[in-house]
Amino acid sequence: MVYGALDIGGTKIAGALVDTEGRVVARSQRPTPARDSAEALMAAVTSVLDELADRPEWAALACLGIGSAGPVNTFAGTVSPVNIPAWRSFPLVERVRSHPAVPAGIEPVLIGDAVAMTAAEHWIGAARNAANALCMVVSTGVGGGLVLGGAVHAGTTGNAGHIGHITVDQNGPVCPCGARGCVERYASGTAIAAHALESGWTPPAGLPATAREVGTSARAGDPGALAAFDRAGRALAAAVAATAALVELDLVVVGGGVSQAGDVLFAPLRRHLASYAVLDFTRDVPVVPAALALDAGLIGAAAAGLSRAGAGAGSRATL
Ligand SMILES: [Zn+2]
Repeated sequence: MVYGALDIGGTKIAGALVDTEGRVVARSQRPTPARDSAEALMAAVTSVLDELADRPEWAALACLGIGSAGPVNTFAGTVSPVNIPAWRSFPLVERVRSHPAVPAGIEPVLIGDAVAMTAAEHWIGAARNAANALCMVVSTGVGGGLVLGGAVHAGTTGNAGHIGHITVDQNGPVCPCGARGCVERYASGTAIAAHALESGWTPPAGLPATAREVGTSARAGDPGALAAFDRAGRALAAAVAATAALVELDLVVVGGGVSQAGDVLFAPLRRHLASYAVLDFTRDVPVVPAALALDAGLIGAAAAGLSRAGAGAGSRATL
């Protein structure tokens, strides 16, 4: 038995067949023609599916999950990825279902990319066996997903756990989402680089002003770089504390490119969390790095497909 997975992102469209232990046994990938037409994009997805369907393992396909950059609407089966302008309310589930190689009876399951990461960490990663966990992806943006009562909780349209757009400063800067003072304005890679520059940090000669370079400088003790990570950690901590108060978290998992900075992010996050999460039931929640890196999107999509296959049709709210 294998689980099919698609991972739709702004730079690549990836597909995989994943075994029952969560190992990728076959993969296919195309660059995302992000500026092309809706049909050119779909042709890339079809091509990935064609290549997977040519594999002998395809005959044992048990389910098919699709993780996509958001926003997604899992109820409608549509995607509108910010970085893929030609797809707005694009009926991806219907189009994948109608691929000639997808067997009748296999219903593709759509989830957002951060929920996919959560599903992967819950299946075989850092949140394995966790009953109540928050998983965050700190990268160009800040995303997240929730495990509640031992299952990934995606919400009606698949967007639950959207921690990047929790307001942590009511008077903060306006966010592209329309709200003010969102976590993402402080903790995204873009925000960290911008704040480091404002704090007097300069990138090493010839290198770009990215969060990765800020991380390198922070580890070397640069005060502007450290200030930017402290501000990011503080915003994340406030949002984690709020989430812990709402749902009683057992565990917080942090992944994504910015988390690769390591202790310069995790240390201020934990320190500020200790000052914000002060109720008996919110105190001392462990904050750990994600265990899965590159394949988390594919493994999570496979996990989502599996859970639906196991749960039966109609179970939309709980993966
Ligand atoms: Zn926002």
